[in-house]
Amino acid sequence: MSMRSSRIIDVATSRLVVRGGFLLFFVWICVRLLGFAAWARGVGGYVPRPEAVAGILPVGHYTSFFAWLRGGGWDALLPAGLVIILGALALSLLFKRGFCGWICPLGSIWEFAGVLGRKLLGRNLRPPHWLDITARTLRYLMAGSIVFWLASVPIDSAIAFRTLPYMWVADIKIIEGFMTPVFLGAWLLGFVLSMLFGSVWCRYACPLGGWYGAIGTMSVCAVERDEATCIHCSKCTKACHAFVDVERVKRRVAAPECDGCMDCVRVCPVPTALQAKALGRIRVPYQVWPLLVVGLWLVLYAGAKMTGHWDTTIPDATFKQVISSGVLEQRTPGGL
Ligand code: SF4
Ligand code: SF4
Repeated sequence: MSMRSSRIIDVATSRLVVRGGFLLFFVWICVRLLGFAAWARGVGGYVPRPEAVAGILPVGHYTSFFAWLRGGGWDALLPAGLVIILGALALSLLFKRGFCGWICPLGSIWEFAGVLGRKLLGRNLRPPHWLDITARTLRYLMAGSIVFWLASVPIDSAIAFRTLPYMWVADIKIIEGFMTPVFLGAWLLGFVLSMLFGSVWCRYACPLGGWYGAIGTMSVCAVERDEATCIHCSKCTKACHAFVDVERVKRRVAAPECDGCMDCVRVCPVPTALQAKALGRIRVPYQVWPLLVVGLWLVLYAGAKMTGHWDTTIPDATFKQVISSGVLEQRTPGGL
């Protein structure tokens, strides 16, 4: 393969391009969802309702997901949320925190802030070790508690939650809430913190990231280091945005913080010293890893779409009725 085509493949499979693409797609579907809400309020032309925004409702959909696992049936009203959860779990089992590392739009914003910080300041600062460990431990405890709580919601309550009109339009409410002054201030604060310290939300706070990270420790594929050929140049450790000390890893990178970004493998000057591998044996070229992550994601989406497990079964007219009744302006589900 020529240097030029190799360079093109490198750029096409880079995090900037893949994550940027998913982020732009997410912004686009949010705009479409707001267009749908405007139509429902009678102030705009019809825009088909996009389903993928369901990913921003993890509490509601995880409650529904665990109810489904326990025999509560598939959510036919808003099924896209369950498909997204299944996709994120499948990625975690196969490609570390692949959802966090390549797809999550929120993570992409903080990641790009971290990259900007590294460009402007030379590096992201690392909190003292004791604080880093304490904050990460608290995050995993919080993630475990939340997952336990969601998994324990009685099946009847979870099924009843699916039928709440508030749940049907919660994605619109959240997107509109993101644009309020309080949230805009929080976005700005998060951006500045991420510029200084890297993705603080993903590392210390996001419960979903903790859950996917814990599952990712059992991932089929992972980065592996070969002590015999490593020349200890430290490039991998310096490249790792998740602060994994790759150079000192005995063999397999098991750290739950690893999101399979492949940056360490990309920069390693010795081809055999650091490689992504499946089952510890089969080499996965670093350019192929994101193709597998995105490919699996798209296959799951296409499969769900074609088999009727993606689109809502709630008619547009019902959404219009619910939204025009003012449910979006109510403060809590209890107000229904
Ligand atoms: S640089 Fe390597 S160890 Fe660090 S998150 Fe990316 S793949 Fe994992
Ligand atoms: S970049 Fe490669 S050679 Fe350098 S320390 Fe890491 S594994 Fe070893």
